[in-house]
Amino acid sequence: MEFIAFTYVGNFISDGLIKEVVFDVFDGANRFFEENSLPLRFLYVGKLKLEPGYLIDIYTPEGKIRAYPLEVLTEVLHARLLNEIEGRSDIRMNKIFALTTFPLVSRNPYLDFFEKFMGIHKTHGELRVMVLSMNPFEPPELSRLLGGSDEGERTRLRRGLEIFKTRLLKGILHEIGHSFGLEHCPNNCVMNSPSSMDEWDSITIGYCDSCFISLKRAVEWSDFPLENR
Ligand SMILES: [Zn+2]
Ligand SMILES: [Zn+2]
Repeated sequence: MEFIAFTYVGNFISDGLIKEVVFDVFDGANRFFEENSLPLRFLYVGKLKLEPGYLIDIYTPEGKIRAYPLEVLTEVLHARLLNEIEGRSDIRMNKIFALTTFPLVSRNPYLDFFEKFMGIHKTHGELRVMVLSMNPFEPPELSRLLGGSDEGERTRLRRGLEIFKTRLLKGILHEIGHSFGLEHCPNNCVMNSPSSMDEWDSITIGYCDSCFISLKRAVEWSDFPLENR
């Protein structure tokens, strides 16, 4: 069994709701691995705390946004992964995955939809850091519905949350696929690289047969003791 350290960088507002979304997709991913007999599990290693001082203002055509520079985030995650590995020598783990509630930016100021949508991978030798922003997956009306008190608004909020979680789960499976060497795929498959959120919504949760076989082989291969390879 291979483990992937899992963490998230929280927001200051609506933390309860963010937590619900994060842990539902965490459970959803582990259930997916289990049901598909993939010897792979996420291991929750606690929420990641970043100093608010690292937050920077970025001016985009849609206005000012607050974000963490990616360079800071990946460094902190790399350090966290090293720490976790040191404390858990009994399990096999060389990857860390983080969800952020913030848009991901680098010093190169503004990322377009496509780049924002896809996660970021950084490798340090055998170790891999993965970051996926929850931000682009969030249905735009969700935050507006948060304070809603009437029945109709609450129903729309629940529905919006389900859409949010499904999009995110597919995003997570997409990044996991990349971390085991999968490329983009034209099929109805989470390894598809969509050009819009509508396209992403039309994709079924899961890998197509060919991607699944490649993934399973890669996961099982990495599970094989080094000396027998
Ligand atoms: Zn991709
Ligand atoms: Zn595929």
